[in-house]
Amino acid sequence: MQKYQIAVLKGDGIGPEIVEQAQRVLTAAAEKFGFFVDYVPALLGGCAIDETGTALPPETVTICKAADAVLLGAVGGPKWDTLPGNQRPETVGLLGIRRELELFANLRPAVIFEPLRHASPLRPEVIGDSLEILVVRELTGGIYFGDRGQKLINGTEAAYDTELYTVPEIERIARIGFEMAQKRKKRLCSVDKANILETSRLWRQTVKRIAEEYPDVELSHMYVDNCAMQMVRHPGQFDVIVTSNMFGDILSDEAAMISGSIGMLASASLGAKKPGLYEPVHGSAPDIAGKGIANPLATILSVAMMLKYSLNQPQAADAIEQAVNEALTQARTPDLAEEGLAIVNCEEMGALVCSFL
Ligand code: NAD
Repeated sequence: MQKYQIAVLKGDGIGPEIVEQAQRVLTAAAEKFGFFVDYVPALLGGCAIDETGTALPPETVTICKAADAVLLGAVGGPKWDTLPGNQRPETVGLLGIRRELELFANLRPAVIFEPLRHASPLRPEVIGDSLEILVVRELTGGIYFGDRGQKLINGTEAAYDTELYTVPEIERIARIGFEMAQKRKKRLCSVDKANILETSRLWRQTVKRIAEEYPDVELSHMYVDNCAMQMVRHPGQFDVIVTSNMFGDILSDEAAMISGSIGMLASASLGAKKPGLYEPVHGSAPDIAGKGIANPLATILSVAMMLKYSLNQPQAADAIEQAVNEALTQARTPDLAEEGLAIVNCEEMGALVCSFL
């Protein structure tokens, strides 16, 4: 029987509550589809500071590197907010583990679940029959990591940030984009600003060359300003979008809003080697932590992404997505409450998804 080792970083706030439900669903999927999952817990974030003095203990890095995939809840909270930047759970813990695992690609799907269609800010006729966009964002290069500073120019205060991409950086993110498209509808849209930016011209040229390795994928190019517009005008035209760090930061948030709820947004971060890291987009929600009312679906959907992209169990992934869809027709956690539907807590939502598996 195929066996996988999953590093589990529950983190802080609602992290433990939502991760427990995601593990429960993953275990149920494993039983149904005939594989075995072994969980190895490790500390990350504020809980790691409290216990070991650092947000990213070396043991956590070792456990994650040895795993087939990493499941993360969320980190941070008011208790650690007064710590200096170089000790905070988010900077040391979250950015640290991403760096240690060399995760250069961030994948964020924007999906409309049929029962939540009305939660989308887009009109039904704009949404069309169904909507599923995957934004692949370059995560470790570009203007967020380039040379920056402030200086005086002719006695006037000025500041600058520099966008820099190397060909290997573009090649590797392009390949992730093409591979994701191959697993979906085989359409990849590369987004840049090649009419203005030199980095975008290199980006476009490189993506075109890599396209020759993927003749089964239909490649198109779009300027970022047009893409921002097309996303809300005719989102159904997109399958997979691949883009730079800053453009991806903005476009993935825009795409996310189309699905209408933060409690539903899953994400994956991938590197050249395993393991990938899977986590909900939302934070540790300290305002509702410990009340048992958090929505576990974003974390459960992150597990579905893990099954698809790291564990090669696409049928189990589809079954979880389908079970989430079914669960939403029956009951909701308070953040998605709707008249006529039962309100359930975090644990009950996990149980409901399992019952539909
Ligand atoms: P947040 O995402 O934690 O919460 C924003 C709002 O959404 C809150 O009202 C919260 O109750 C609600 N919410 C979030 N997730 C929910 C869920 N699953 N179910 C129901 N409601 C949910 O963002 P924030 O308040 O800005 O940040 C809180 C803490 O989380 C901070 O310490 C921040 O640094 C940290 N954070 C961590 C991550 C991460 O671990 N990846 C990401 C973002 C923020």
